[in-house]
Amino acid sequence: MPDAAARRSRLVVLAGPTAVGKGTVAADIRERHPEVWISVSATTRPPRPGEVDGVHYWFVSDADFDRMIGAGELLEWAVVHKAARYGTPRRAVDTMLDDGRPALLEIDLQGARQVRETMPEALFVFLKPPSWEELVRRLTGRGTESAEEQARRLETALDELAAEEEFDVTIVNHEVHAAAEELVALMTDQVSGPEES
Ligand code: 5GP
Repeated sequence: MPDAAARRSRLVVLAGPTAVGKGTVAADIRERHPEVWISVSATTRPPRPGEVDGVHYWFVSDADFDRMIGAGELLEWAVVHKAARYGTPRRAVDTMLDDGRPALLEIDLQGARQVRETMPEALFVFLKPPSWEELVRRLTGRGTESAEEQARRLETALDELAAEEEFDVTIVNHEVHAAAEELVALMTDQVSGPEES
């Protein structure tokens, strides 16, 4: 198998609109599929209750983030929801791919587009809500954002939904376990993946 194809089948980029449940699906995989390595992003936002540095994110200062960008340490990065910067540390991803482990990036659309440029051999998976109404319900129901922030995220989500066509595969997030299993199957079923030639 050519190297590019081998790496494609191992690196999966999961993106989708805000509040679709990307983080929950990733958490489910983290808990039940230790064979799948999930990238830990760096972010300048403060931790939420229960979040652990190095597990959910690397929580870094603006100065640290600037340094990481300057040193070329980030595979991609973006300002998300006009609020904070998020980025994927490059070295860990390369190590996992070199080791042949399935690797998952759970990132926003801007980041996915950057990875598409630099690692087009990856498999790009779009996580989609069952409906717009359900997306609104999930965003307003989780109670972690202010009303103003919710409105801002919904506006972003409208644009993000239109990006589905840029992706290789769509998974509809009806239910978190089912979506997680579908994703893991894509990552581990390397030969019969939809983009395999
Ligand atoms: P939250 O702050 O709710 O954990 O995440 C907000 C958004 O940041 C989510 O849409 C998530 O996909 C995105 N995100 C998390 N890590 C990264 C990353 O490394 N790069 C990019 N571009 N987006 C990320």
